[in-house]
Amino acid sequence: MPRRTLAIRYTSFRECPNCEGRGDDGAAWRPMPCRRCEGRGRLVTGVEIEDSLEGVLPRSRYDFNARGEVFLLDFDEDEDFEVVGPEDQSSR
Ligand SMILES: [Zn+2]
Repeated sequence: MPRRTLAIRYTSFRECPNCEGRGDDGAAWRPMPCRRCEGRGRLVTGVEIEDSLEGVLPRSRYDFNARGEVFLLDFDEDEDFEVVGPEDQSSR
């Protein structure tokens, strides 16, 4: 039996209002990465999780924040599954 996987995808973003999409504070000399979006210039506003077992999970099964960190709700820690993606996160 194939291992259960949860594939996380970002479905929508909005421009970071703190840095106006630049990803930093715009300083000419040594610009600092924006703290709100951590240098990405955008905030996550939509997330979709596809469970290889149950299909796309309802919004009540997970939570996420603007940085794109996803929190699974009502999942047993002993459950054997692999969380995949999103690429935006794994490349850091
Ligand atoms: Zn920002």
